[in-house]
Amino acid sequence: MGVILDGKKLADNIIEELRTASLKLTKKPKLAVIIVGDNPASQIYVRNKQKTAQYIGFDSLVISLENNVSEDSILEHIYILNEDKDINAILLQLPINEKFNKKRIIEAIEPIKDVDGFTSYNFGRLALGYEPFSYPCTPKGIIRLLEEYNISLEGKKAIVIGRSNIVGKPMALMLQQKNATVICANSYTKNLKELSYMADIVISAVGKPKFIDSSFIKENAVIIDVGINRVNDKLTGDVDFESVKDKASFITPVPKGVGPMTIAMLMENTLNLYNIQSRLIL
Ligand code: NAP
Repeated sequence: MGVILDGKKLADNIIEELRTASLKLTKKPKLAVIIVGDNPASQIYVRNKQKTAQYIGFDSLVISLENNVSEDSILEHIYILNEDKDINAILLQLPINEKFNKKRIIEAIEPIKDVDGFTSYNFGRLALGYEPFSYPCTPKGIIRLLEEYNISLEGKKAIVIGRSNIVGKPMALMLQQKNATVICANSYTKNLKELSYMADIVISAVGKPKFIDSSFIKENAVIIDVGINRVNDKLTGDVDFESVKDKASFITPVPKGVGPMTIAMLMENTLNLYNIQSRLIL
């Protein structure tokens, strides 16, 4: 059986380090989360983020808005947070109802407070290979997890399945920057199985349970399962874990793999933004 990439353990260590660092600060970093609507999964994620922030010693603020709120009102909240000197990091919990112009709302966030790295300023810098204020949390967490287990990316063939702005696209860019050769697949990709079978590293961010089985992966491939799917009230990834676990050299579990790393990176990004903003004030 392949080595389990223990995202939970690494995330817990990072959170303890952040807690120690936070204790030394004279002022608390503050994270603001905006949640629109009553998606139960989103509400759980926001609660977890708030709990973790508080545990570390950050201040946090959750702005909960009803789905019938106007888009202008969401923007108004963001403008106020942008101006508020006590707020260091702003996160818009996704997904939001399709009636809203997501692009316009994300773009309203000041890049220096954009804790997810989703604004065009930060994403553009990432794409150009310049340092953004924040790297998107999920791909950043995956790179950190691979590094923790000394899995080198240089010269490796990687496939990222899914091209969302929050996972697939930034993941492919970040792997490229680590000198991997990358295929970024989408729902139109032909011969996905063959492409995936060639890869040393397979990262699935599709959102379909048991999408990847052993026929997609070669012997000793590294498997990163980003998917979070609820099947019979149980969380499961995109990967059929039982089918691939003996073939993979390393594999993330779901839960306790990529998910906890995403939250840890959100907290790390919050502290980074606080540090950047403090330097600007001095
Ligand atoms: P998304 O916006 O849900 O999009 C899914 C992506 O998968 C799209 O790019 C789609 O291609 C692609 N896709 C769908 N069917 C495919 C197929 N048959 N072959 C190849 N590609 C296919 O993506 P997301 O927001 O990144 O979410 C993906 C999954 O990751 C979800 O389960 C989500 O809950 C999970 N997630 C987990 C974390 C974490 O921290 N663990 C963080 C974020 C998301 P098209 O673009 O062509 O439609």
